[in-house]
Parts: sequence; structure tokens; C-alpha cells
Amino acid sequence: MTRIAFIGLGIMGLPMAVNLVRAGHEVTGHNRSPARTARFAEQGGRAADSVRDAVAGAEIVITMLPDSPDVEAVAADVLTARRALWVDMSTISPVTARSVAAQARDAGLRTLDAPVSGGEQGAVDGTLSIMVGGEAADVEAARPVLEVVGRTIVHVGPAGAGQTVKAANQLIVAGTIGLVAEALTLLDAQGVDLTPAVEVLSGGLAGSAVLDRKSANMLRHEFAPGFRVDLHHKDLGIALGTARESGVPLPLGAVVAQLMAAARAQGHGDLDHSALLLVLENLAGGSRHGR
Ligand code: NAD
Repeated sequence: MTRIAFIGLGIMGLPMAVNLVRAGHEVTGHNRSPARTARFAEQGGRAADSVRDAVAGAEIVITMLPDSPDVEAVAADVLTARRALWVDMSTISPVTARSVAAQARDAGLRTLDAPVSGGEQGAVDGTLSIMVGGEAADVEAARPVLEVVGRTIVHVGPAGAGQTVKAANQLIVAGTIGLVAEALTLLDAQGVDLTPAVEVLSGGLAGSAVLDRKSANMLRHEFAPGFRVDLHHKDLGIALGTARESGVPLPLGAVVAQLMAAARAQGHGDLDHSALLLVLENLAGGSRHGR
């Protein structure tokens, strides 16, 4: 049993924190909007009114917040948890992850950046993929807790490396969705029956997890999230910013980032990222065969 503080009880954080309670850990949760903290308490968690209250006495502090500024905003309060291991599972910039890790080290805390992949369902089922940056000994200390929320837990390098791998993950996923959307738009324009087309594409080298998991909803034009366009827009900003800092061009990533920005500008920010299809159809003058 570990004393855990859990900050950020949103779509991902709430089910993750509840799984930790069910595994027998003592979990104190806090969310900026109190209704989410109350939902956590209803499911067996301890509720705290502030970050400081939540982290007092914690052995492990987990943060699951939207973006880099949110993690920076709670840092001073998290650092009051002297000697704790701070595991930030939010998707943020590697630069911020490294600077937060340095601040924490100065304050006597250990840190891991441990962003996740696997979506809300993965959080509910406790089957997330977790890419971890930090010291090996700290990864091993956190592993029993990480194994409650994830199935694939890989130490990928020093502080910030987890976030860099996550940026690469988001680049690949967005690029694949973009090309699947272009392929569907082409097939549609030619009047090809999309269902058998997707079936045969899935069996060959063009097959992908995106085609398997997203294409059925794309064919039905159902875009309930899932992973929101707004969050993927944020993540592509992180990927391009990291590339710029590294002096590395990402030409395909730059194009797909613009398409994601267009999805947002067209009012689709709250839809699933597969709504990139709407942008491609729009560029082609609309869906021609009435999907
Ligand atoms: P979310 O917006 O649902 O949850 C974030 C929560 O943090 C919200 O409840 C918000 O009120 C709370 N919060 C914000 N600032 C706070 C503060 N200062 N103190 C306390 N609480 C605060 O987002 P989410 O979908 O749970 O995603 C969280 C992170 O995980 C993001 O970085 C996202 O990119 C990443 N992620 C999400 C998914 C997904 O499918 N949703 C998948 C993988 C990774």
C-alpha cells in the first residue's frame, strides 16, 4: 500500500485514480473543479480541497493535467511534498518536463515524466502504454503503482525522454489519420464501396491500428471523442516545437499540424481527432456519395 496524491481527475485521471484505490492504495485526489473531486470521493477516494492538502504526506504524487502551463502552475505546491516521487503523466513539452524535473531535484524530490497512450478506455481498463523518462531506480520504485494503470511500461531514457517519445507517438498517429482520411476521400470520389476497400487495405502493408480502430466510425461520420482535436493540436505543437529546438525538419508533421489546426478553426475541437476526415472532405468540395 502506497500513499498517493492524484492531481487532475479528468477523463483520464479519474479512472486511473479509481483503479489505484481499487488496488488497495491510499489515494488522495484533487481537481480544480470540485465536482470531479466529489466524483472521486464517491468511488472510494479521499478528497482534498487543494494541491497542498492532497500532497501532504504522499509517497508518490501523480499529476494528470492538460498542458505544460497547468503542470507549471501546480509545481510549487507539489514541491511541498518533500522526499516524494512526482510522476507527471500529463502530455507536456519535453522542455517543461526537464525544467520541472530540475526544480524538483533542487527541492529534494525525485521525478518521472510518464505520459500515456491508450485513451479513456485504456485508463478505465488499466491497460495504458506508459513511456517513462527519468532515473532507472525511480522507475522501479514507481513500477508497482504504474502497473495498476498500465500494461506496457517502458523506461525510454532520462528526464524528458518519455515526453519526447509521446511527441513521436502523436506525430505518427496524426499523420496516419491524415492519410487514412485522404484515402477515404479519394475512394469516395471514385464511387468505390468503402467498407470492402477498408477491409482489404487493413490486411496489407497499409494496415494500421488507426485503420482498425477509427475507420468504422469515420465511414459513419461519427466523431464522438475519444481523443479530442484540441488535445491533438496541442500535441502537434509540442512535436513541432521540439523539432525546431532540435534543428530537425518535420515536413509531413507540419502539414498534418495545419490540417489539425483547420479542424479546430472549423469548430471541430471537441470532436475525435479522426474528424480530420471532415477537413479533407471539405478541401475536396464535400463528401460525394452521401456518407
Ligand atoms: P481533461 O481535461 O479531461 O482532464 C484534466 C483535468 O485537470 C480537468 O479535470 C481539470 O479540471 C484538471 N485541472 C486543470 N488544472 C488543474 C489544476 N491546476 N489543479 C487541479 N486540477 C486541474 O484531460 P484528459 O483527457 O484527462 O487528459 C489529461 C492529459 O492526458 C492531457 O495532457 C492529454 O493530452 C493526455 N492524454 C489524454 C488522452 C485521452 O484520450 N483523453 C490519452 C492519452 C493522453
